[in-house]
Amino acid sequence: MKTLFQKIYDGEIPADIIHRDELCCAFPDISPQAPTHILITPRHPIPRIGGATSDDSATLGHLLLVAAEVARKVGIEESGYRLVINNGPHGGETVPHLHVHLLGGRQLTWPPG
Ligand code: 5GP
Repeated sequence: MKTLFQKIYDGEIPADIIHRDELCCAFPDISPQAPTHILITPRHPIPRIGGATSDDSATLGHLLLVAAEVARKVGIEESGYRLVINNGPHGGETVPHLHVHLLGGRQLTWPPG
């Protein structure tokens, strides 16, 4: 059965795709926590970073490079941004298909809540 984010990659659930290639896609979060809040997610599901293996190395590296490329594309490179991966209950993970959150467009605070 396809995950939510596989359905978005395949166009079965609508999203404004900002980037798509053979390994991943990027689209706005449905519940943005910052003026820019974009998810970058692999085409083939890895449930979470804690379940990734060395076979996923190229995909994981690619996700980070795409996140930086998308940040440039949407114009937040200069002001800065944050990349977040939530893992498990205490990490705040709600969708068990790995994704990188790209957050920006305002001053983010530290530590996160
Ligand atoms: P997590 O909490 O697992 O790190 O992040 C999951 C994210 O997916 C949340 O920020 C949530 O708002 C977002 N999300 C959940 N359902 C959808 C959806 O159908 N479309 C989009 N674009 N984002 C979603």
